[in-house]
Amino acid sequence: MWSALFPLGWGALVGALISRFAHPVLNVWLGAFAGLLLGVLWCVWQGARFELWLKQPFAQSLTRLRGPWRELGERAYRQLRLREQQASAQEQRLQDFLSAIQASPNGVVLLDDEGKIEWMNQTACDHLGLQMPRDLQQHIVHLVRAPAFTKYFAQDQHDQEIQIDTPGTSWGQSRHLSMHLHHYGQGKELMLTRDVTALVLADAMRRDFVANVSHEIRTPLTVLAGFVETLQSLPLDAAETARYLELMSVQASRMQTLVADLLTLSQLEGSPAPSAQELVELVPMLQQLESDAQSLSAVQAHKDVPVHRLVFEVPQVQHVQGSRHELFSAFSNLVSNAVRYTPEGGVIRVSVRLTPEGGMNFSVQDTGPGIAPEHLPRLSERFYRVDRSRSRETGGTGLGLAITKHVIQRHGGSLNIESQLGKGSTFSLYLPVSRVR
Ligand code: ADP
Repeated sequence: MWSALFPLGWGALVGALISRFAHPVLNVWLGAFAGLLLGVLWCVWQGARFELWLKQPFAQSLTRLRGPWRELGERAYRQLRLREQQASAQEQRLQDFLSAIQASPNGVVLLDDEGKIEWMNQTACDHLGLQMPRDLQQHIVHLVRAPAFTKYFAQDQHDQEIQIDTPGTSWGQSRHLSMHLHHYGQGKELMLTRDVTALVLADAMRRDFVANVSHEIRTPLTVLAGFVETLQSLPLDAAETARYLELMSVQASRMQTLVADLLTLSQLEGSPAPSAQELVELVPMLQQLESDAQSLSAVQAHKDVPVHRLVFEVPQVQHVQGSRHELFSAFSNLVSNAVRYTPEGGVIRVSVRLTPEGGMNFSVQDTGPGIAPEHLPRLSERFYRVDRSRSRETGGTGLGLAITKHVIQRHGGSLNIESQLGKGSTFSLYLPVSRVR
């Protein structure tokens, strides 16, 4: 700062020297005063330029400043640059922080001390059906209109999260959200939202599954227990005892089939996808399917010969890659369903065809009762049955199509069902070209 006053000293000195040596008439003091005045004027002029420069402090315009003012300008410029760098580093950190919160799979909403939205990430917008920046500064209770949330928000403590149902997605599925408020700062709130729809559905499915399994097992168990009681309490002759034992054996084998199907499902779910190394020969498999179908057709009707016309076409594909055991069970489920649900005299046609893109289509077409369109999307759900009594009568567990779909999906393929009430059904299994040899 003091260096800015040097020009005054220099002005006075130069003025005094000029008046002393160059002009004998002039008084030295007067010369020094004039020099000092000129120094002051120069300082004022440079000060004004410095002030002007401060308004737009660019490095290039520093050259317009002279002497100590230039030095002052350079120092001020260095300080300004330092501050700018610090500010932009902080801004960058803030942006990184916000991007990290944006990337979070959970919704994050920052609320001020009145409960108005200060900021939220895109996930929160999606969860709550809100929009940035339209809904900023809106009160959260006015936007999330679930009564459970309003009550929760009004509480002082939010130790637990709450779950609410929101109208959900554009395709009409309702969405379950978990929401948790956390205090932070001066009376502010951090609200976290989590989409728990899949968890809630999985929980409901687990409960349904347990209820279904219990129901399926309870029925034959009750029948078995009844027969055991009868055998214990009533004096029966040999023929009656044999008949009861026969009925008990039917119920026991029903339970065995159910347990076997449940084990198959759990094995399919817990094991890795079948490797493409195993080569499956389709011709012997189809022969086996045909002979099983003939036996089933006869046994079902309590006859010695098949009661359906079974047509097995010559396969257009000889080999596929995958698990022989799994594919046989999937193919066999479709064939046995066709036999079980098609009345006597019906026609069942089984074919293996090559699709135009080189995949394989295994299809079972029957002239059975057909299935109404509303059942088709749910047919491969566990324990879903259209004709419950026919399924039970013929030893069905309600798990056949669930297993079939699982198997074919593990092989990268798909299950397709076409059916018309009263006209019959076609169940097809598609395997992609990568599985066809
Ligand atoms: P299930 O052991 O009861 O046969 P599935 O999962 O194999 O169980 O089949 C589910 C339901 O789909 C059956 O209960 C039946 O109502 C219906 N279904 C399956 N295949 C046929 C078919 N070929 N014709 C008519 N209905 C069928």
